[in-house]
Amino acid sequence: MPKFFLDGKELDYTPGQTIIEAAKAAGIDIPHFCWHPSLSVAGNCRVCLVEVEKAPKGMIACATQVMDGMVVHSDSPKAIQMRNAVMEFLLINHPLDCPICDEAGECKLQDYAYKYSIGKSRFDEEKNHKDKRVELGPHVMFDQERCISCSRCIRYCEEVVGDPQLTFVNRGEKVTIETFPGKQLDNPYSMNVIELCPVGALTSRDFRFRARVWDMSHTDSVCTGCARGCNMEIWVRDNIVKRLIPRENMDVNQYWMCDYGRLNTYKFINDETTRVKSPMMREEDVSQDAGGLKECDWDDAIARVISEIKNYKGDEIAFIASAYSTLEDNFVLQRFAKEIVGSDNIAYIPHIEGEDDKLLLRADKTPNANGLKLLGIDPINGKFIDKILNKQFKMVYIMNDSLGRLERTDEIAKSIEIAVLHISNFYEQSHKATVVLPSATYAEINGTFVNFQNRVQRIKPAVATLEQERLPGDFAVSRLDKFGAHNDRWTKGTRFNARPAWKVISQMAKVLGSEFGYDNTEEVFDDMAAKIPALAGMSYEIIGTHGAVVGQSEEVAV
Ligand code: SF4
Ligand code: SF4
Repeated sequence: MPKFFLDGKELDYTPGQTIIEAAKAAGIDIPHFCWHPSLSVAGNCRVCLVEVEKAPKGMIACATQVMDGMVVHSDSPKAIQMRNAVMEFLLINHPLDCPICDEAGECKLQDYAYKYSIGKSRFDEEKNHKDKRVELGPHVMFDQERCISCSRCIRYCEEVVGDPQLTFVNRGEKVTIETFPGKQLDNPYSMNVIELCPVGALTSRDFRFRARVWDMSHTDSVCTGCARGCNMEIWVRDNIVKRLIPRENMDVNQYWMCDYGRLNTYKFINDETTRVKSPMMREEDVSQDAGGLKECDWDDAIARVISEIKNYKGDEIAFIASAYSTLEDNFVLQRFAKEIVGSDNIAYIPHIEGEDDKLLLRADKTPNANGLKLLGIDPINGKFIDKILNKQFKMVYIMNDSLGRLERTDEIAKSIEIAVLHISNFYEQSHKATVVLPSATYAEINGTFVNFQNRVQRIKPAVATLEQERLPGDFAVSRLDKFGAHNDRWTKGTRFNARPAWKVISQMAKVLGSEFGYDNTEEVFDDMAAKIPALAGMSYEIIGTHGAVVGQSEEVAV
């Protein structure tokens, strides 16, 4: 392999690689604003200037190809002097409003200013003032003064999304970005420019001024908005989810997530008006006006479900599994149905909407349909529904889904004698249930989903419930930890009295005299891996932070 030298280190490179790419491959970060591995090279920020021996002047590392034997210095006095000059130039008109900027704490300009700039300005003139609040689109706000004209956002719209919605206008110190006339920044992936922007020029209208990044914890997770399962981080302050941002996984979502997933899969977690706060069951003395349901404790709710189950034969009880629930929840439900209740009547309700798009979004709007396939749980069919309508099924046990997603909902609701519901949030039909069991959301539990590529991916608790399960390694990486302060995300804020379905169902099995033997989610997964050939050899450790593929994997469409 050909070699070159960077800061005295001999490094391999692949012919055609630029200095910045070869350095990155060797784990060395050369400062950069405009360069991004997924975008074309613009070479306009100049902060990656390095000294190349025998070259007459500084070379930009993002656009200079490595040559055999090349000697590069990114930390020589000349390289540092060039970088300082670029930083000084970039900061001339910058407003330096870090104290009120959402990007503070995760801003490349701020980090590089601390690390590389000279720490003072020689610019005594009045700074150039521009508009600080431009609504570029429904989700993105633009501060013109903070923009360093790196063009990342422009190139992203054109090259990744394929919808060139942004452009530069004007020249010199007057330069700024704008949407094309009559257009908005409103593509389905518009919010990725927020993380792409190396400064605080592009901010999220949903998240603006809602929390400082150093006050939040962040936890690796997976989006539940569709079968892609984009890798993401859940950012939390005081036990409230504040934002979701994409996490790099080149095999699944590269660096991106869609606006739908980012904005629509977290607010229900925080929603105190719709979250189920306690187990509930139907009582004769509670009026229908009040929903007919009365709060109770977990033991009473479980006892009620068991007494209802005992009133029926196994084949009179139907179970609705859920492609929104984890593998672990569905596996335990399936065991309970078959081994304890003696029912083979288990199915799930698919959710297909529209078509797959060219970037990430899938028509399958559930995160775990492939997981149910692995378990051998089929989508609900007409025969199954007819059995509900004909009252052959007297009791229906629904885990984290709603029969309201089927057609003929009212007829179905009237045909059921007893309905048991695991749900996190109330919905229109849920007050008709006999027993309601508060479910922990995906942000409150451990577990796994299987995406459309048959990649098994982990979710971890980012928000605490009253009864929190924490496995070793579950603690989020916190900005506070970085500065040596205490991470108190487990102690502050409201905690819901919610539990993962697998745990509640295991308790029911125990009361009925059949101990499944699970103390935590990992033990459920290990049991699945032992029993399901496709999962053989898998473990939480092997799945890791980026998932592991089972069976046949499809081509990644990005
Ligand atoms: S808004 Fe941000 S990403 Fe876009 S050109 Fe300016 S600095 Fe670069
Ligand atoms: S593409 Fe799907 S998984 Fe990815 S962010 Fe959007 S909804 Fe979530």
